[in-house]
Amino acid sequence: MVKCSICGKQAIYVDKVTGKGFCKNHFISRVEKTVEETLLQALGQSSLEKSTICVAVSGGKDSTSLLYILKKLSDRYEFKVQALSIDEGIEGYRDLKIPFIEKVSRKLGVNLHVRSFREEFGLSLDQMFEILSEKGLEIKPCTVCGVFRRYLLNRIAYSLGADYLATGHNLDDEAQVLLLNIIRGSIVNIAREGGVSSPRIHERFIPRIKPLYRLTERETALYAYLNNLLPPFAECPYVVFASREVVRRWLNSLEEENPGTKIRLIGVKETLQKAISRKIGDRALRLKTCKICGEPSAGEVCKFCQLREYLGI
Ligand SMILES: [Zn+2]
Ligand SMILES: [Zn+2]
Repeated sequence: MVKCSICGKQAIYVDKVTGKGFCKNHFISRVEKTVEETLLQALGQSSLEKSTICVAVSGGKDSTSLLYILKKLSDRYEFKVQALSIDEGIEGYRDLKIPFIEKVSRKLGVNLHVRSFREEFGLSLDQMFEILSEKGLEIKPCTVCGVFRRYLLNRIAYSLGADYLATGHNLDDEAQVLLLNIIRGSIVNIAREGGVSSPRIHERFIPRIKPLYRLTERETALYAYLNNLLPPFAECPYVVFASREVVRRWLNSLEEENPGTKIRLIGVKETLQKAISRKIGDRALRLKTCKICGEPSAGEVCKFCQLREYLGI
């Protein structure tokens, strides 16, 4: 029996990198401490105090745990927490998650704001998928979903006067995105995809924070389970289109053979980010203003407006 390295009770979790075991209580406090340290390191105590953090809640274990932990920390550091959720209109998936998000937000006493693709853009993702299919699926539904979701989250967070937009990305997500950016040769995106936070690179762009990004998917899943935060099981039907799945499986097998691979990749990324920013300058990371919708954009016309035109909506 592996024992908790802190109190000697039976361990329920063993960190494969250090070989240390943790009992239930010490595992929970370790996860919360990691999130607290990540937040403090990213923002510093003074910027955290009196700020408003909007949490993008998808109803998965990561974002639900994030909402739960941030709410716990909000009293101590005197910041406000609001929950945002996007209803993309995916039958058999999103409609199962929304009631769960509502229940958790109510229990935590957090204000929840839900916006739907249908109300905002006139079509649900399922309907957009039909249009994409008619055009031969040159563009995958996940691309449209990601762009539209990020656009809405930023716009709502801005309208609520948020200082930060927190997302539930974990260490696995960060490592996967880094590899995808390398494969695609997106140097600027490597610098821009801040694991911790992005500065205000546009007046209307709400800086992102990823307080879970030092925790693996295994850790966030166990944390959610131990705190009764496991969402109803439902898999997005469009997951087959996500190019990330291959990278995800490959990374997991690397981690299995070589514990610590993911966290080392993030270390490499942080070093790379500093070097890239120095080389191309912070100005290159700034965003332009979309000439159609006025929202932050990498180019003259933002991805959202480009896709909107493509879909004819
Ligand atoms: Zn213990
Ligand atoms: Zn635009």
